[in-house]
Amino acid sequence: MLIGENTMSEFGRNVKKTRTLIIPFGTVEAHGDHLPINTDTLIIREVIKKVAEKNNVYMAPPIQYGVCTSTSAHPGTLGITTQSLRLIATDIVRSAYAHGLRNFILISGHGGSLHVSALREVAENLTQELDKVKIAALSIYELLGKETQEIIETKGDSHAGEAETSLVLHLAPKLIKGRSKEEYPRMPKPIAVKDKDKLKYWPGAVWGNPQKASADKGEKLFKVMVEKVEELIKRIEKLR
Ligand SMILES: [Zn+2]
Repeated sequence: MLIGENTMSEFGRNVKKTRTLIIPFGTVEAHGDHLPINTDTLIIREVIKKVAEKNNVYMAPPIQYGVCTSTSAHPGTLGITTQSLRLIATDIVRSAYAHGLRNFILISGHGGSLHVSALREVAENLTQELDKVKIAALSIYELLGKETQEIIETKGDSHAGEAETSLVLHLAPKLIKGRSKEEYPRMPKPIAVKDKDKLKYWPGAVWGNPQKASADKGEKLFKVMVEKVEELIKRIEKLR
């Protein structure tokens, strides 16, 4: 069920059938020269939409913007701060809680560490604040394990590489423009030392090998993602 497509009275009826709301978080972020800037939002939106159609749970309209650090200098990345992300995530959960929802999954299509830790901080704080709330906050990639290694060949594939390119080939092939080269960034070591010139370490905004992507791999990966989110719903709904 999609909140955004319900009328007021449909929401009133449906909120009696489910107490679970999944909120997808994406980014506006450079994804190589072959994938759309909308990639993270597109993938997580389609996965959660499928989950919400198949199961008795709600999906909230996605939050399009996220916190992007490594790609902040790449053309097209429009990032927000962790403060903004925490505020919007907190406001949405509080508001949905006031309307009767109790189980929340804040799930990101972007695995950036500051971005995901901001969502976890929100989950931690709201668990203390709201009496009957249950919250999970994570990146979808944290749910994937050995099933993924059987589908994706590239070791260390993480951004605009084999996995994301395969998913976009499955979900929106018309949005792909050719195929960027394989790339593995050489981030400064230790990574805690910041350099203003980020493009020097990672010019292409690809981490992995887009050349190995296929629509078939994307379809398989998509199916695994849907199943993993379904398992997570069962876990959170059972939790006391
Ligand atoms: Zn991505």
